[in-house]
Amino acid sequence: MYDKLLSILLVEDTLAEAELIEELLDEVIPDRFKITTVKRLTQAFEQLTAAEFNIILLDLSLPDSRGIDTIAQMKEKAFNLPIIVLTSLDDSDTALEAVRRGAQDYLVKGNFAGELLIRAIHYGIERHSIETRLRQQAERERLMARMVERIRNSLDLTVILQNTVQEVRQFLQTDRVCIYQFQSKRANSIAAESVCSNNRSERIIQPSSLELENLDAIADRLIKTILIVPIWKTDTKQKNHYPLKKTHKQLWGQLVANNYNKSREWQEWEIEFLKQLATQVAVAIQQSELYLRLQELATLDGLTQIANRRHFNDTLNLEWNRLAREQKPLSLILCDVDHFKLYNDTNGHPSGDLCLQLVAKEIARSVKRSSDLVARYGGEEFAVILPDTNIEGATYVAMQIREQIEKLQIPHLNSPTMPHVTASFGVSTMIPSLNLPPNHLIEAADRALFQAKGNGRNQVVQIT
Ligand code: GH3
Ligand code: MG
Ligand code: MG
Repeated sequence: MYDKLLSILLVEDTLAEAELIEELLDEVIPDRFKITTVKRLTQAFEQLTAAEFNIILLDLSLPDSRGIDTIAQMKEKAFNLPIIVLTSLDDSDTALEAVRRGAQDYLVKGNFAGELLIRAIHYGIERHSIETRLRQQAERERLMARMVERIRNSLDLTVILQNTVQEVRQFLQTDRVCIYQFQSKRANSIAAESVCSNNRSERIIQPSSLELENLDAIADRLIKTILIVPIWKTDTKQKNHYPLKKTHKQLWGQLVANNYNKSREWQEWEIEFLKQLATQVAVAIQQSELYLRLQELATLDGLTQIANRRHFNDTLNLEWNRLAREQKPLSLILCDVDHFKLYNDTNGHPSGDLCLQLVAKEIARSVKRSSDLVARYGGEEFAVILPDTNIEGATYVAMQIREQIEKLQIPHLNSPTMPHVTASFGVSTMIPSLNLPPNHLIEAADRALFQAKGNGRNQVVQIT
């Protein structure tokens, strides 16, 4: 960098001093320095907005500023430029204070030769650029930590991805940032997107036109405006057999930043920053997927893959309280397979398991509304929660299920009821009250079920 022309802003009100400095510099290396001399701080500020400089040589005694505070005033206007203080005061305390306040060096006038001044200028520029890089790096690290915290603050994938694109777009000051999720080898979808609001123009690439194999072509066309970083994730579907093999990485998607208005050359650190962030996003994605899976496992019955007893209890409590507030009916169907012990004894336990799976599937199929819940209540007992459903509606659903189970025609030759598998049903309906526990509803349905069994099984009994 030292062979190029260096532009110096010299702030010095004594003409003789200014000329001396110019001479000193020119003597050692002619034509290397372009010096702009001003006598006042205010003039220096004007120059700073009008032209670009590499360094400032600053006298501390000027007509419009005096002493050490001059440095602070100058730094305020030229925070990105190195400053070398020139002074007639040979005082080491002041010199130290000047450096503390951000000056790169402190030279006493009349005490330095041209070589020394040039060395001070070169070192000053170099030191300042190292300081700037370090400061930027620290800022980036702080920002990365903040972004990672925000991203990881949620286990909800949509929120994670949306936060990411927003933060990245703001940080890079770019027109659009989005995350593509690869669905298959040929297709990908936009999982999250952040677009600068005054930039919604036709120049924005439509998602549908962005197929995976097109990305190279697009990158070629907009090479200065698009930055693509892959999001790799560890393949969690892989079975972990011991000894553990190398972890497999799977290309989950891409983080894409683009600029439409101005072409832009991405800085090395920007690319590095985005890569690091993509790694963090991948970890967050993985965590949220595992969390989802865990939640699923915690609410599903292993054998029948319908809701388990815990999920049944939670839903019943929730609906009981909700409908108590709304003063609307809540219905419950309890269903118990008839002579199931005998079925097991006759056909064997594995066959019994299969039978329960078929019955569960049939019940789930018969229940249509999204607010309804089919659960395995216990062994060969199932429950259906029907919110906002009256006794007629619930009885109708139970009768439908009963019929469908019979239609399965699963042979149960030793059953005293029918030569195939059947089930009995107890139905109860209540307008819930916050003063009563939801057990009330269960007990009523259980009484109805007991009656259905006593009346000969394979039937529906209702209690209101
Ligand atoms: P009822 O008609 O009065 O309901 O008679 P039942 O034999 O169905 O009733 P009981 O409660 O005497 O027996 C239920 C049987 O269900 C006993 C148990 O072995 C069987 N069972 C419970 N859970 C499972 C399961 O997960 N798999 C299998 N195969 N059988 C189960
Ligand atoms: Mg039973
Ligand atoms: Mg039974």
